[in-house]
Amino acid sequence: MLGPVILAASRSDKMRKLVSAAPVTKPVVNRFIPGETVDQVVPIVEEAVGKGLELTLDVVGEDITTPEQAAHARDAYLELIERLGDLGHGTKAEMSVKLSMFGQALEGGHELALANVRPVVEAAAAIGTTVTLDAEDHTTLDSMFAIHEELRKDFPQTGCVIQAYLFRTEADARRLAANGSRVRIVKGAYKEPAEVAYQDKSEIDKAYVRILKILMEGEGYPMIGSHDPRLIAIGQELARRAGRKLDEYEFQMLYGIRSEEHLRLAAEGHRMRVYTAYGTDWYGYFMRRLAEKPANLLFFVRSMITKN
Ligand SMILES: Cc1cc2nc3c(=O)[nH]c(=O)nc-3n(C[C@H](O)[C@H](O)[C@H](O)COP(=O)(O)OP(=O)(O)OC[C@H]3O[C@@H](n4cnc5c(N)ncnc54)[C@H](O)[C@@H]3O)c2cc1C
Repeated sequence: MLGPVILAASRSDKMRKLVSAAPVTKPVVNRFIPGETVDQVVPIVEEAVGKGLELTLDVVGEDITTPEQAAHARDAYLELIERLGDLGHGTKAEMSVKLSMFGQALEGGHELALANVRPVVEAAAAIGTTVTLDAEDHTTLDSMFAIHEELRKDFPQTGCVIQAYLFRTEADARRLAANGSRVRIVKGAYKEPAEVAYQDKSEIDKAYVRILKILMEGEGYPMIGSHDPRLIAIGQELARRAGRKLDEYEFQMLYGIRSEEHLRLAAEGHRMRVYTAYGTDWYGYFMRRLAEKPANLLFFVRSMITKN
């Protein structure tokens, strides 16, 4: 019940100001977003790689309102890639990007987002790593898939994300699996209407399994983005049945969630990539993490009450 309310708040400017300014917010935010600058995230990359984990790094930010902010977002990624180049971890540290942060929702946004993301993908390829395009709300996806296809002409390793809760996704999965793409499958984190998305958790889980089967049996590289123990076990089984070796698919989870499971899967020999977000514009990302698990919200509210 609480999830949709929090997701609605994640798009409210009033709530953004209130939550961002509350002095007790920061320690709760840090659980999910471990830094604000490249300097703060570099030691986290080193520690994770040292433990046998891989990463996908996200400079937080979305729903920007000017082309200058979009250019700033591009530059933040370029700065990150320069530092990653020095570390030399190759594909062990890749990037995730949200096209809304690159200007997708502005006038002429499709072309603007493509123009901003291309140099990021190029720079990533130059240091031997990759970029994955995150999936945002359903109205942005035709543009995201078109940009993905365009980028793949020169950089076939560019990945994208599909969301199990959308009715359209089985068809998207078939297309992407047939053309050999890297694809992250997730349940979906936005508030979507019943006309386009399953609302019932068990329907979403069933769709997730159907879609994962399509990806595992296809030509591409499936990335299982979930913390759900049942889906992780099913993912392992589907990979085995499809005859995939351990390096022919991977698991992905978010920083700060089920960290012991990250290590367990890596110790079993799986590729385990941790989605690690950093930066100052963390509000939207943080609110989606609260919406996924109401206990997070209770923890947050309790810390506000006890500290005030
Ligand atoms: C690597 C990665 C990338 C993602 N990229 C996108 C994207 O591009 N677009 C998009 O729409 N969504 C994205 N998501 C979010 C995704 O859509 C889900 O909202 C999120 O993963 C929760 O679903 P779940 O599969 O973990 O299952 P759930 O059933 O939600 O969770 C299973 C269990 O995991 C734990 N858990 C899950 N979420 C939390 C949390 N926030 N805090 C604490 N514990 C939690 C709980 O123990 C819970 O019982 C991404 C998720 C991951 C892991």
